[in-house]
Amino acid sequence: MTGGWDNFADEVAAQSTRHYQRCGVAILLDELPNDQARAAVRAALDSDHVTSAGLARVLRQRCGDIAPSGNTIGRHRGGNCTCRKEPSDEQ
Ligand SMILES: [Zn+2]
Repeated sequence: MTGGWDNFADEVAAQSTRHYQRCGVAILLDELPNDQARAAVRAALDSDHVTSAGLARVLRQRCGDIAPSGNTIGRHRGGNCTCRKEPSDEQ
């Protein structure tokens, strides 16, 4: 049964790091089922006609608890989130 719990602390640390360092929008984008969904969310994030609160409500309806809050979306849009500290693979 080794391996089941030996790495428990490491696994918790890895998960905690991921969630503490990454903003909710980035986590959601990772969790989306396909590229079409990711493109749709990114388009909404970039749209001047979409409010952060409105986007948050729709995402919560579609994605449940993984959806970021309106405040988190606002920070992400304003470049004040933790995404900026990560090397981007989208360039
Ligand atoms: Zn972000």
